[in-house]
Amino acid sequence: MNLNRLLLTGISCLIFLSGCASHKAPIKKVYKIHTNQTYKNNTTSNTTINSTQNKNNIDKIDKNNIAKLKDYKVSTDYFPSVSQDERVRFLVLHYTAINTELSLKVLTQKDVSAHYLVNDYDDKTINLLVDETKRAWHAGVSSWKGLDNLNFTSIGIEIVNLGNTVSPNYYAPFPEYQIKKVGQLTQDIVNRYGILPTNVVGHSDIAPGRKPDPGPLFPWKQLYTEYGVGAWYDDVDKVLFMDQFPWDTTSTYFVTDVQNSLNKYGYKVPVTGIMDTQTKKVIIAFQMHFRPEKYDGTVDAETWSILKALNKKYNP
Ligand SMILES: [Zn+2]
Repeated sequence: MNLNRLLLTGISCLIFLSGCASHKAPIKKVYKIHTNQTYKNNTTSNTTINSTQNKNNIDKIDKNNIAKLKDYKVSTDYFPSVSQDERVRFLVLHYTAINTELSLKVLTQKDVSAHYLVNDYDDKTINLLVDETKRAWHAGVSSWKGLDNLNFTSIGIEIVNLGNTVSPNYYAPFPEYQIKKVGQLTQDIVNRYGILPTNVVGHSDIAPGRKPDPGPLFPWKQLYTEYGVGAWYDDVDKVLFMDQFPWDTTSTYFVTDVQNSLNKYGYKVPVTGIMDTQTKKVIIAFQMHFRPEKYDGTVDAETWSILKALNKKYNP
């Protein structure tokens, strides 16, 4: 493929990204995290909530993250306060739409970035591009659970995958060895920050219609079942709701209910009672994530039931 086209595609895919973080210990699993020498992994935390662990935590304070003043001493006698939580609340997954070499170039030299890049090589390497304590520029104009500009509150992972750049109706699959990398990496991040299952999202979820990644072939269900990462519905609930599907999908009542349900789960969609363009875009994003076999923006019985089952499980 023409490199210029690839680069342009990549830039257009990534151009609106922007990011964030707070943080803790480094990842030391099977995969090696390659760090740019500019960055230093932080091995400590100053955000532990349990005050009974004061002593231990004070020992772990990263001295680099405490104000150093000429005339005063910063005391840690009352550290840490119990009223605090993580700055990182969301984990956003992307595909790059360009190859590994170009991805590294674009994500490190252009005005777009991500904390991690998962290449498409069958090796043991994952690249760290932005320290987790810093904001990466990956999400752009985005919204989830009423919060905008998710760069401020998220960790972003770019996965090397060509998406549908080869053909609009064909999405490139993710090799199993790459999903294993994504699985371990996301599991580590989710556990360290205590990220809620429903806050593990795709770029398409937080920017419906504007971004398609990580696309309908990304195995969200596998991530849930094999790594405990992200949200997935219970089949028994889905079957239950299938029996309750109203079938009259044209009424204002039905559309309003769908829009409210999507908002309740986290999507941003105006409640108009009309199946408008924005609503359809959100439904397509929802289907790509939870019912990827068919993502046409039509609320059929299965789509409706999955949406209801998810809210029953995660937002009762
Ligand atoms: Zn993206």
